Amino acid sequence: MRRLIISDIHANLEALQAVVRDAEGQYDSVVCLGDVVGYGADPNGVCEWVRENAAAIIRGNHDKACCGLEEPVLFNPVARFAVEWTYEELSDDNRKWLRELPVGPADLGDCVIAHGSVLDEDEYLIDAQDAAGQFPHVLGRLVFFGHTHVQGGFFLRTSEDGEGGEAPGEPDKHGVRLRPGDTALVNPGSVGQPRDLAWESGYALYDSVTREVIYRRCPYDVAACQKKILEAGLPPALAERLSIGR
Ligand code: ZN
Repeated sequence: MRRLIISDIHANLEALQAVVRDAEGQYDSVVCLGDVVGYGADPNGVCEWVRENAAAIIRGNHDKACCGLEEPVLFNPVARFAVEWTYEELSDDNRKWLRELPVGPADLGDCVIAHGSVLDEDEYLIDAQDAAGQFPHVLGRLVFFGHTHVQGGFFLRTSEDGEGGEAPGEPDKHGVRLRPGDTALVNPGSVGQPRDLAWESGYALYDSVTREVIYRRCPYDVAACQKKILEAGLPPALAERLSIGR
């Protein structure tokens, strides 16, 4: 199975369409790690594509807030404005679909998916210490997670002769081929609002036969997306951050 792993689309239709074009012919199944909406100007268009195409999905914190399941008390004022705007903009049907999204983590057999972490959908996995807290719960598994909008991974590798684990490694820039026994936490990056100082959409491809994960970045029409955000009356900061990837 070749999987297209996407996360944190955040209602950015231009970015989603660019990713789908970029990955065309290279996957059999789409997996979405949540935050389909929130921030961007196209919540309905993005919901509709994901509803039609994702074989597996779990909800993100913005999905919860934008459909009214949870008050955005922990959101900053800009994010909260976007939550309220999105709630009104969503069709009844898409709002209902978001309300019914499953809570992560979910076990897909060849991998586990989570929005924040496998213990808490709202937890940020930022550094090796955060990752170390997850490893005991998912030994020998591959976990895809999102939420931080930073592409990269944390790995606990078992040595060839089967002796003990190693400290979590540095994220590899291009990808990784997993060995039997490896524990891996992989963030495909954010499709619609990257925060790793690169503006190009982030996503990942995973081949469950070769056990290879590839990180990808692809350019999209940022200017068109920014124009829509401003025309929608969303905070200009949400448009500006897209060009700098933070
Ligand atoms: Zn997000």
